[in-house]
Amino acid sequence: MEAALSPHDAAALLRWYVDHGLDETIGEEAIDRFALPAPAAIVATPAPPTVPSSAAPTPIRPPLAAPAVRAPVPLESPQLALDAREAAARATTIAELEEAVRAFEGCALKRTAKNTVFADGVAGAPVMIVGEAPGADEDRLGKPFVGVSGQLMDRMFSAIGMSRERDLYITNILFWRPPGNRTPTLSEQAICLAFTRRHIELAKPKVVVLAGGTAVKAVLNTTEGITRLRGKWSTLTLDDGSEVPVLPTFHPAFLLRTPASKRQSWVDLLSIDKRLKELGVR
Ligand code: URA
Repeated sequence: MEAALSPHDAAALLRWYVDHGLDETIGEEAIDRFALPAPAAIVATPAPPTVPSSAAPTPIRPPLAAPAVRAPVPLESPQLALDAREAAARATTIAELEEAVRAFEGCALKRTAKNTVFADGVAGAPVMIVGEAPGADEDRLGKPFVGVSGQLMDRMFSAIGMSRERDLYITNILFWRPPGNRTPTLSEQAICLAFTRRHIELAKPKVVVLAGGTAVKAVLNTTEGITRLRGKWSTLTLDDGSEVPVLPTFHPAFLLRTPASKRQSWVDLLSIDKRLKELGVR
């Protein structure tokens, strides 16, 4: 039998967990995500067909370039993604969409979050920034990008004369904080994506800026990493057929850890400014 921890040791252990980002309990039983899958889940690979020894050797061809499109996400409950899609499609204004997001019970993250973090800035602003997910400060205050990385983002945009009070509309692909700021699972992303896509349709920005690799992969449905895609404009086609220019850029939290990359982000900011001028917005 294991000895019970003294109150002092239990407090030290809790502090250790919090220091490592484990600041929420989400279940009674710990899940070992490194455990091997149960044998039934292992799919047998069929043996290659045997080639008669007289057959001519098959010429070796280079593999076809794989498309960078994400494979469909095996959802824990496909119904939840359908529910999200239907709720998002029913919203005809941003206020209705916010109400639908706040009423949505299909994302488990909502159960551990303090707040729903929907958006900040000016709905209908020319630039819509889409980040990953709320952190601790955003969860506490109910607004996206209000912590240190958000403050850096504000300073960066103010360098090209833009502010969230006038020119920016800010949201995330997830409306609830993942426990300990972990990366949202593909399933969580897929469920919330319908709301984000509808959000862009209703906000009608002139350009969308995707902050960080997770938002880029989810919104552009790609497996390409942020290092490859940052600074490259593409066009996002939405479900209503509308199209919007999209620019992937580094996440400000990454810039805080890697200040040398700010030089590339400055290039991205100038590119946003240029694109808006071309569109006659500035
Ligand atoms: N990081 C994000 O991606 N979004 C926020 O709102 C805060 C930090």
